[in-house]
Amino acid sequence: MEILNARNLKKYYGNDKSLVRALDGINLEVKRGEFIAIVGTSGSGKSTLLHMLGGLDRPTSGEVYIDDKNIFEFKDDELTIFRRRKIGFIFQSYNLIPVLNVYENITLPISLDGNEIDREYIGEIFKTLGIEDKKYNMPSQLSGGQQQRVAIGRALATKPSIILADEPTGNLDSKTSLDVMGLIKVSSKRFNQTVIMITHNEEIAQMADRIIRIEDGKILGGEINE
Ligand code: ADP
Ligand code: ADP
Repeated sequence: MEILNARNLKKYYGNDKSLVRALDGINLEVKRGEFIAIVGTSGSGKSTLLHMLGGLDRPTSGEVYIDDKNIFEFKDDELTIFRRRKIGFIFQSYNLIPVLNVYENITLPISLDGNEIDREYIGEIFKTLGIEDKKYNMPSQLSGGQQQRVAIGRALATKPSIILADEPTGNLDSKTSLDVMGLIKVSSKRFNQTVIMITHNEEIAQMADRIIRIEDGKILGGEINE
């Protein structure tokens, strides 16, 4: 069963004079629990694709179904709620809140949703990510790799069914990158989450269940719709 299905997704920027086909007919089916790496050169459309898959931006045409719901039929406010419930985002910059400690950063999305904190689950996240002793630390006291672990914890906190990650290891050295990737993989398998991750790094990509290669807004070897 697919958790995510993109149909003939197109995103064009600009006008008739200078049209950029950032996405040019993307078809993608992702199974629940699958770990996918999206690879492509700079400007090939990776970020645009991730934004569309996560409903952060609307396509020029085409559909994205998550759990059989056509997400672009939602109005903006409904889409925001759907996104917060279903999707966890991890970015290259960790975007932690500097005045909150690690525990508060990780549990913030739960509090924002007005939900109870599942202490057992949060405890599992801390253990899985190896940051149990960092609960009371402020982000500025942590290394880049540790901060990214916290950002992963925050993405996992609301138990999203999909994790979308844009170059999550882009700011980390290669050893830390592999560690952090391993953690994303282990925690996603542990909590049966689907991961779609952009990376430049071929070694990182090889850790995925499946690699999608994108060029000029198209999936290489993908099925083409007009
Ligand atoms: P990647 O993530 O693979 O580097 P992007 O998805 O960021 O690629 O960009 C794909 C193409 O779309 C590029 O040519 C980029 O310049 C263009 N693009 C992306 N976002 C915008 C935007 N907001 N306005 C105009 N062009 C954009
Ligand atoms: P309960 O109300 O269930 O007793 P607590 O609020 O005492 O739960 O928190 C349980 C655990 O979560 C604590 O032992 C502590 O480790 C951690 N914790 C709770 N709030 C924070 C916080 N603001 N910063 C760091 N850790 C926290």
